[in-house]
Amino acid sequence: MQDVQFLVVGCGPAGGVAAREAARGGVETLVLERDAVVGAKRVCAAGLREGFCETFDLPRTIVHCDPPTIALHALSGRRFEFPIGQGLTTTREELDGTIARLALDEGAQIQTNALFRGYTREGERSIVEYADLVTGERKRVRARHVLLAQGSSARIPDDSPLAYPDWSNGLITCYQYRVYPERPAIPVAYQTLEMHYYVGAAGRNVVAWMFPKRDHLSIGLGIPGKLGGKELRAELDSFLSGVAARLFPGTQYTVREEGNLLYGGAPRPRVRDGGVMIGGTAAGLVDATTGEGIQEAATSGRLAAAAVTAARARSSFDAALQYERSLKAAFYARLRQRHKLMTFLERRPVRFDVLFEQLARYPRLAALLQRERHDFSFAEWLYLYGQAALFSLRVLRT
Ligand SMILES: Cc1cc2nc3c(=O)[nH]c(=O)nc-3n(C[C@H](O)[C@H](O)[C@H](O)COP(=O)(O)OP(=O)(O)OC[C@H]3O[C@@H](n4cnc5c(N)ncnc54)[C@H](O)[C@@H]3O)c2cc1C
Repeated sequence: MQDVQFLVVGCGPAGGVAAREAARGGVETLVLERDAVVGAKRVCAAGLREGFCETFDLPRTIVHCDPPTIALHALSGRRFEFPIGQGLTTTREELDGTIARLALDEGAQIQTNALFRGYTREGERSIVEYADLVTGERKRVRARHVLLAQGSSARIPDDSPLAYPDWSNGLITCYQYRVYPERPAIPVAYQTLEMHYYVGAAGRNVVAWMFPKRDHLSIGLGIPGKLGGKELRAELDSFLSGVAARLFPGTQYTVREEGNLLYGGAPRPRVRDGGVMIGGTAAGLVDATTGEGIQEAATSGRLAAAAVTAARARSSFDAALQYERSLKAAFYARLRQRHKLMTFLERRPVRFDVLFEQLARYPRLAALLQRERHDFSFAEWLYLYGQAALFSLRVLRT
């Protein structure tokens, strides 16, 4: 059986950043990745927050567009625009592929075609079992620390301390087209991230988007729960025809279809089991109002790497406990609140109009909501509570 200090499952932004930073800290690190090519199969709009490349020390060459504006389309059909500093778009083959390459440069090993099956605890160590998809063999690795970062497809057995009974209620079925117009779309398309919130043909809540890329537009949607491909495709075709009429009217285009699950529930209550940690989307670190989770995933990888690197110097150090504390302090208050807000808005989708109107009228509120809460000043908290009270009053009037 192979022995390593740190075993990472999944080479998305969470696993890739964890591997890169742990290896850089001198920790012997192995990543197991199910796919043959890292990032090639990831379905994602791949919008990144301002400063992402600098924060995670990534080359700017992965950036396709840097739209300064987000446009929110509400149920009424009204469009509300806000500045977002400098948003970024990329593709996941470039993002995940680049992080993986940098992790290899730091000395991490990445084993592709390796399908994680499960783990058991053996004293201070974990035994991880996986299937080698090339040879068909079952293999085992013993590790002191493990980070599970398999994204929304993470399957955690019901009897595991990491299990979360509400997990499947948070799953959202997503369908996306990469749309390649024969001629570029109108210039504003490349300056704006579009999010649309409406009720679809089957009476279900839909969140849809248009994110511009260098050579294509990512146009997709997500609907809570499980849905058949036919229904999803019909909904997306109808959304696409509206976007095409506005942004590339009369232009022929080709389409590449992609589908995936997104998680839009509350974060997982427990994120450690002995030396096993769970990160990224597998830990439920997604903003339920927007579907964003790359920043959170990458940060969780960074926190896991910092914890296992600290444990290298002090053998009694509880890396998983440190990880859980820092992860919860960084994200849980905001992500739980966003999940509650989204549930509240979706119950009566006309509320999206009320919120977006308020954001448009008070740019300071829009700017505050783009930040993490742990660095809010007292005055900013007061302002936020005042705005929350105003929102409640306005909702009562609808
Ligand atoms: C349609 C869509 C659009 C999105 N758009 C955005 C956006 O614009 N901006 C944003 O910030 N977020 C977006 N997200 C969310 C974002 O994709 C996730 O938050 C992010 O990918 C989470 O990263 P991760 O590393 O946790 O997991 P993932 O990126 O899902 O990576 C998981 C990795 O684990 C591997 N894996 C899975 N199972 C196994 C297994 N059993 N064994 C071995 N390996 C395994 C996978 O192959 C994959 O490489 C979007 C999601 C979807 C579905």
